[in-house]
Amino acid sequence: MRTRTMKFGGTSVGDGASIRRTAELIAASAAEGYAVTAVVSAMSGVTDALGAAARAAEHGQADVFRSTRMQLLTKHLQAIATCVPADERDAIGEQVSGLLDQLLRICESVAVLGELTDRGLDAILALGERMSSRIVSGCLRGLGVPSEAVEATRLVITDSRYGSATPLLDETRRATRDVLLPLLEKGVTPIVTGFIGATAVGVTTTLGRGGSDYSAALLGAAVDSEEVWIWTDVDGVMTADPRLVPGARSLPEISYAEAAELAYFGAKVLHPKTMLPAQTAGIPIRIKNTFSPDHPGTLITADAPASSHRVRGITAMKGLSVVTVQGRGMLGVPGIAAKVFTAVAREGISVLVITQSSSEQNICFVIPGSATERAIAALEAEFVLERARQDIDEISAQPDVGVVAVVGSGMKGTPGIAARVFSALGDRGINVICIAQGSSENNLSFVLDQADIAAAVRAVHDESCLDVPNGA
Ligand code: ASP
Ligand code: MG
Repeated sequence: MRTRTMKFGGTSVGDGASIRRTAELIAASAAEGYAVTAVVSAMSGVTDALGAAARAAEHGQADVFRSTRMQLLTKHLQAIATCVPADERDAIGEQVSGLLDQLLRICESVAVLGELTDRGLDAILALGERMSSRIVSGCLRGLGVPSEAVEATRLVITDSRYGSATPLLDETRRATRDVLLPLLEKGVTPIVTGFIGATAVGVTTTLGRGGSDYSAALLGAAVDSEEVWIWTDVDGVMTADPRLVPGARSLPEISYAEAAELAYFGAKVLHPKTMLPAQTAGIPIRIKNTFSPDHPGTLITADAPASSHRVRGITAMKGLSVVTVQGRGMLGVPGIAAKVFTAVAREGISVLVITQSSSEQNICFVIPGSATERAIAALEAEFVLERARQDIDEISAQPDVGVVAVVGSGMKGTPGIAARVFSALGDRGINVICIAQGSSENNLSFVLDQADIAAAVRAVHDESCLDVPNGA
């Protein structure tokens, strides 16, 4: 049995017409002889709306979550009316309305308690995929392809870290094969909810925002698919954000490592964890555009062919802060860095970039802007003694910074890349706050004022000749 796993994002199931196009793409792969597993996101905007309803419930705003329920009901019923065959419309409409009744009940209890737990939020957020999967499956049956909606709570078994749960790989593989293989062997196409899973005792969890890509890679690996196709609304992974760089191009082929670096830093095409299960199982990932299915998109494999481009792509993230811990008394004292990062980790803050000068008098690191106050408070508490002794004389944060990451496996061992990148910035008068490159040499990151991001990305894109397929 040749299997192919496909994932369709929110815009690919954004309305009835898009769902029909999605169902046709699934049907086309099935017609090629593949046993297809399709993983779907919630309709676009639905996860956000559910999250907002949950927070409104926490604040007792019943009118807000009631009206969200009505809006979501209308949105889904409209899609059903356009893409589901007449004889199934009532049944699927009732399932959707039943799920939205659950939304109401959970929100009401959140409102009574006045408290929204991560567990409760996951139960609410999961409703989007539970609705969309049923509609896509109905639409596909309308095209004459046997299909069944399957909840990933039966397949993806996770720990109980609600909001960004980690799948237990062996359990997930076993459960997925138990449920999906019999369907695939019967010629039934499962339409699986992306984004969600469940703990071993069956409590719903989510894998983190944008997690449907990751779901698809997990399931694709579990059923030994030949390839995992991620259908989205752009022509693959681009050399840079086309809104920042008009000459940005889609990359025909990149490596798992490059894709992970690009995805991590803001290239929203793919959830960064997607590469893990695919790479372990050696399954190529293909990124394709639902709205131009003939475009080849981007193929992600272990060794993408070497290109004359040392720099493969540039990506950026804003809304960050750079925190500095500084003091002459830090010199040669072991354990300062450990204390810094332990304090930050205890707050659950993830750190994006770290640098320390070799004089050891200054450690700086980048965190999400929203975590700035908590980080500073945690560091002040951690270093009370060092502060009193004046071993550390500064703990400060600079807000509104961005990180630009220059990515490419071909940068490894090639002298002169950093020189070219930083002269391009210098020529344009762009100031760099701090710089980091790991020893894998496939990512050169620098921190700058976020107002300079667009100019910096453009400068490096030009300097690396990324607008032409075989540049310098
Ligand atoms: N629906 C979820 C989100 O919007 C998961 C996904 O689309 O991948 O984050
Ligand atoms: Mg996505």
